[in-house]
Amino acid sequence: MARKGRAQKWVYLFSEGSKDLRDLLGGKGAGVAEMTRAGMPVPPGLTITTEACREYYARGKRLPEGLWEQVEKALAAVEKKTGKHLGDAANPLLVSVRSGAKFSMPGMMDTVLNLGLNQKTLDGLRKLTGDERFALDAYRRFIQMFGKIVKGIDGELFEEALTEAKRRAGAKTDPELKPAQLRKLVDEFKAIYRKETKEDFPEDPKRQLRQAVEAVFASWNTPRAVAYRRLEKIPDDLGTAVNVQMMAFGNMAVDSGTGVAFTRNPITGRKELYGDFLANAQGEDVVAGIRNTEPISGLKRRLPGVYRQFEEYAARLEKHYRDVQDLEFTVERGKLWMLQTRSAKRTGEAAVNIAVDMVREGLIKRPEAVARVEPRQLEQLIHPRVDPAARLEPIGKGVPASPGAATGQAVFDADTAEEWGKQGRAVILVRVETNPNDVHGMIEAKGILTSTGGTASHAALVARGMGRPCIVGASAIHVDLKERALSSNGHTVRQGEEITIDGTTGNVYLGRVSMIEPKPTPNLKTLLRWADEIRRLEVWANADYPRDALKARENGAQGIGLCRTEHMFMEEERLPVVQAMILADSAEEREKQLEKLLPIQRGDFEGILRTMRGLPVVIRLIDPPLHEFLPNYDDLVAETTELRITGKHPHKLAELEKLKARVEELREANPMLGLRGCRLSILFPEITRMQVRAIMEAACDLKKQRVDARPEIMIPLVGSLSELRAVKLELEPVAEQVQKEKGVRVRYKFGTMIEIPRAALTAAEIAEDAQFFSFGTNDLTQTTFGFSRDDAEGKFIVRYLEKGILKQNPFETIDEKGVGRLMADLEIGICGEHGGDPESIRLCHQLGLDYVSCSPFRVPVARLAAAQAVVAEGVSTK
Ligand code: ADP
Ligand code: MG
Ligand code: MG
Repeated sequence: MARKGRAQKWVYLFSEGSKDLRDLLGGKGAGVAEMTRAGMPVPPGLTITTEACREYYARGKRLPEGLWEQVEKALAAVEKKTGKHLGDAANPLLVSVRSGAKFSMPGMMDTVLNLGLNQKTLDGLRKLTGDERFALDAYRRFIQMFGKIVKGIDGELFEEALTEAKRRAGAKTDPELKPAQLRKLVDEFKAIYRKETKEDFPEDPKRQLRQAVEAVFASWNTPRAVAYRRLEKIPDDLGTAVNVQMMAFGNMAVDSGTGVAFTRNPITGRKELYGDFLANAQGEDVVAGIRNTEPISGLKRRLPGVYRQFEEYAARLEKHYRDVQDLEFTVERGKLWMLQTRSAKRTGEAAVNIAVDMVREGLIKRPEAVARVEPRQLEQLIHPRVDPAARLEPIGKGVPASPGAATGQAVFDADTAEEWGKQGRAVILVRVETNPNDVHGMIEAKGILTSTGGTASHAALVARGMGRPCIVGASAIHVDLKERALSSNGHTVRQGEEITIDGTTGNVYLGRVSMIEPKPTPNLKTLLRWADEIRRLEVWANADYPRDALKARENGAQGIGLCRTEHMFMEEERLPVVQAMILADSAEEREKQLEKLLPIQRGDFEGILRTMRGLPVVIRLIDPPLHEFLPNYDDLVAETTELRITGKHPHKLAELEKLKARVEELREANPMLGLRGCRLSILFPEITRMQVRAIMEAACDLKKQRVDARPEIMIPLVGSLSELRAVKLELEPVAEQVQKEKGVRVRYKFGTMIEIPRAALTAAEIAEDAQFFSFGTNDLTQTTFGFSRDDAEGKFIVRYLEKGILKQNPFETIDEKGVGRLMADLEIGICGEHGGDPESIRLCHQLGLDYVSCSPFRVPVARLAAAQAVVAEGVSTK
């Protein structure tokens, strides 16, 4: 909260701040202050607080009262320290104006360098350095940066003038321009400035400074910055600080230069100084890529003394912050100036290696190491990815929606994807968008690519849930579903031709490319072991097939939280039997078809129970409405109409008419709220009786082979105790009967899924008959919000997020206030996509649940997130 009145301190000298004032001084300001305190050479300067920025907005974009006086006072202190004065013709102080919020934000205002130059100080700088070319070059850069950044002039205008000047002079690089040519360029830049802003370029350095400061504040709310905050979930009300700092000139002579360096390799985590150096250049040249930088060893070769000093500071800073630092520095005529220190961004691999190494070095403790690695970063490590060393040119780019890379033959419809996939071919399903009718194809695809949609689109959600690489919103790629081809950037890919997608980067490549296969490294295993020592929440996985269960087990799952049985019904050879069963006219006919399904299901369950021996496996009885297993109604209408018109195949027509009539009977206005879940058990008890028989027979057979099978039978979509009772009354005798027949007893349980608000509210009662509970957070979210997921995500969630009506997609991260409240009084498990979402995992931990269950690929992520939830409580062994 901004305190009012004169006493408010809006401005801090670097010598007054520290790393603990990051909220107030921003990351950059706190960093330079800390280095100043540590006695390192930092160009003196001042920081205007984030509080001042907030106050600026509170006052309708006017600088807070007293702020400018404080700036002038602090500036006087800086002048005293440096012996230079802003606007002094003889010995001018030049400054950089740098924005710096609490979190680094590339969407914000860039830095303005060389502020304070005008006609008079230009002359002073020339005399002082004896280098007219340097002085003029600094001046033209300043006009360019000020015009572009503070006044929003199109940078191209300046670039064009510069290119033209070089052409006229026959110069290849900027430094080749002669003073006379630069003087002309400065005039041209000023003319551009005048034309675009209708004012003269400000001569008065104080006015330059004030305008730059206000521009930094204003940049907090540019659409670019706001969009970046949305993406990174940074609050809008933090504000940014402004740093005003004496310039250090890396472009003054050959014993000058500028560079960036990390205290460890941010890609691999190796303990080595890693960075770039550019001799005789200013900081922005490194970023602009105008000249080729050399590795940091270039500094060692050119200026060994400076290098040694820098190395020492780097080591000290890392130790001080107990984390890898990302450093910026400039050397002016052999003197080293430190310009920035901050925690370094790093790859998942580096994050793991660094965290584990630092524990070994005694720098941090285990819980801290566990807290250091972003759970989502682990995903980079557990999915294959395109080898960055191959330096390939992508043919297109989209939104990275689900990490990992995959190569396969392009197919353009779900049926072909399913068909080819089942034949063992690797396919990439390419669509404009996906919907629930495509899921059977997505299951069989190695990856999914859509030309529309965002990170909350159907394709993205389903792919993440299944652990399939996915790119969405690749708008530059034209998908022609009729022609079964995609075109992009002059390339065409037809059905059957190979492409590669990298869901970590969003890049699409032609053909097969070299990949890096994920292997859990020893360091990752170590880190996860530490996580396991810390966490209380168990991590289970959702798996429908033995191969998924195996993956889950390898990744450390402690049980299967959800085994859906409907996928088993969907498989090609079985579907006709399932359909015949649904279409049966009589109970006997239905029993006949169910008998055919029994051994198939028994086989399914045997596989998964065997794989998970010794651990619980929650098997959910059939859940979706039966019409989902039948052909689409509209297709049937079209087909029968066509047959009727042509008059051919009367026999087939009669058959299809019958099918159509049955589908029509089963059709529902609201399938999500219709005849599904336990309601099916009540209307068609023979189906779930068969399923329970299959489960129990599998478990008993395994028991006879001394395999410890632990089935837990889950009855879905229960809303009341009486509903559950009715179903159990049908099913429990079957379980008992099977054990009698087989002559063995197995550990088994009956339980239910809490996924209807009524069930959550009456859970205490339902518990009388349920031996276990688990939350189905997907349906619970649907029914609590009254959203049907596909409609919501397809039609309005994106808008809700954009407008800020929803802060997060509740299907990705559990809605704490509503759904979370329904979950609060039950100590049980959760399954559903939420089980792999780190934020939701934290909530589950806080609510005291027993376990989360997520996709097998996410198990390591969940293990880490569950441990972090404990560390965040601060009760760890620190
Ligand atoms: P960013 O947040 O983009 O890193 P910075 O404020 O750090 O922006 O500055 C951009 C570039 O300008 C960096 O290369 C930095 O080293 C350089 N720079 C900033 N302030 C100064 C200064 N006082 N003297 C010399 N170079 C500077
Ligand atoms: Mg920087
Ligand atoms: Mg459900």
